Amino acid sequence: METVRIGYVGCGMMAQKVHIPNIISLDDCELLALAEVRPQLGRRVQEFHGVPRMYASHEELSADADVDAANLAILVDPSEEAREDFVSPETAAIDPERCVACGACEEACRFDAIRNGDGSYRVDPISCEGCRACLHVCPEDAVRMEKEPAGIRLRSRTPYGPLLHAHLYPGAENSGKLVSEVRREARQSAKEVGADLILIDGPPGIGCPVIAASTGVDLALLVSEPTLSAIHDLARVRGAADHFDVPCAVVINKWDLNRERSAEIERWASLEGLEIWGKIPYDREVPRTLVMRRPITECASEGIRGACDAIWKSARRALDELGDPFPTRS
Ligand code: SF4
Ligand code: SF4
Repeated sequence: METVRIGYVGCGMMAQKVHIPNIISLDDCELLALAEVRPQLGRRVQEFHGVPRMYASHEELSADADVDAANLAILVDPSEEAREDFVSPETAAIDPERCVACGACEEACRFDAIRNGDGSYRVDPISCEGCRACLHVCPEDAVRMEKEPAGIRLRSRTPYGPLLHAHLYPGAENSGKLVSEVRREARQSAKEVGADLILIDGPPGIGCPVIAASTGVDLALLVSEPTLSAIHDLARVRGAADHFDVPCAVVINKWDLNRERSAEIERWASLEGLEIWGKIPYDREVPRTLVMRRPITECASEGIRGACDAIWKSARRALDELGDPFPTRS
């Protein structure tokens, strides 16, 4: 079972004597944050129990969407320097005041995005691909194209160097384009600060965001876990990387949770001519380190740090062998 991260509101007597110790005693729970309106009391309870975060009110706590959704920005403690809105691609909208319900737009739409209900025509924004056919055929000028905020791009400073990142709003589409913008900005930023390497934490799968994240990279590190679908998933992402001529290597995370499957991954990699750059063992220190908002390279476990170190050395060696095809590697 995954570790459940908990935020607890209130540091009164029952919280101190019963609830907080109970949460801490559960193997599958991490107490990530407390909220308490009395600052001194809150700080004392936080320090006593070693809770990573403290908030002055439950509103702040409930507004923290990362309580159980870790990502790189959470771990590297960024200070935001700049942000920019990311707008969605255009979608059509019909002005009911102008529409005379002739149906020409419905007929022209190849994506079945225009619906006729009770004699009025509407656009389904999820299905609309923004091709503008309806705009051109409408005799009443009743169709307009609209853009909406879909997310934000951010540039931040971290103790480990600049970080370029982004949020796509829930339900918003076209993360491939947003990923491309982040990657382009990362490259630009790397040139500005003289960095010779860009590390891109790519999304899972083989879809548009993965392709956007891996375009133009020098090396791809495929991170797998010893599960039933591991080889199938690895083969697919390896196929996508091959298509773009990106050399790959493999890392097996939590390899010792299923040694048999890990051995299968190693055999598959060997047949495919892929190097295994590292096998990271399962260790309960990892979630503890992440809860403390630290990267796993700062993990107390020597096994974890040693595995990360070996992976990093392999990556540097491979990059050195590649030479320097671009001013900035990624
Ligand atoms: S813009 Fe294209 S896809 Fe969207 S509703 Fe109009 S015709 Fe259909
Ligand atoms: S083509 Fe224009 S007028 Fe005709 S149904 Fe569509 S929006 Fe309405």
